[in-house]
Amino acid sequence: MSAEKARKEPRVVAEHEGRQITIIPRYCKGCEICVKLCPKSVLEIKDFKVHVARIQDCNECMLCEIRCPDFAIEVVGSGKKGKSK
Ligand code: SF4
Ligand code: SF4
Repeated sequence: MSAEKARKEPRVVAEHEGRQITIIPRYCKGCEICVKLCPKSVLEIKDFKVHVARIQDCNECMLCEIRCPDFAIEVVGSGKKGKSK
C-alpha cells in the first residue's frame, strides 16, 4: 500500500476539544487489541470494526495507535495533555 493510496482511504473522524481520533474502517479487522489496551474504555467494536464511543474520556496515551497492527487508528492530541502531534 503506497502512502498515496492510504491517504485516499475513507476515514471516520471523531473530535472533542481539539483531540481527534481517526479510524480507517477498511484497515480495521476488529481484533480488539486497541479496545482491550485502552485504559479509558474509549473504543468499542461494532460490526467487526472499531468505533470511538467516548472520545471525551481519552487521555491521549496513544496506545491504540501504537499497538494497532494494521495502522487503522490515529490519535492527534489536543496539546492540552499527554502526547500530541
Ligand atoms: S487494533 Fe487496529 S485492527 Fe484491531 S480493532 Fe483496533 S483499530 Fe481495528
Ligand atoms: S489514545 Fe489511549 S485513551 Fe485514547 S483511545 Fe487510544 S488507547 Fe484509549
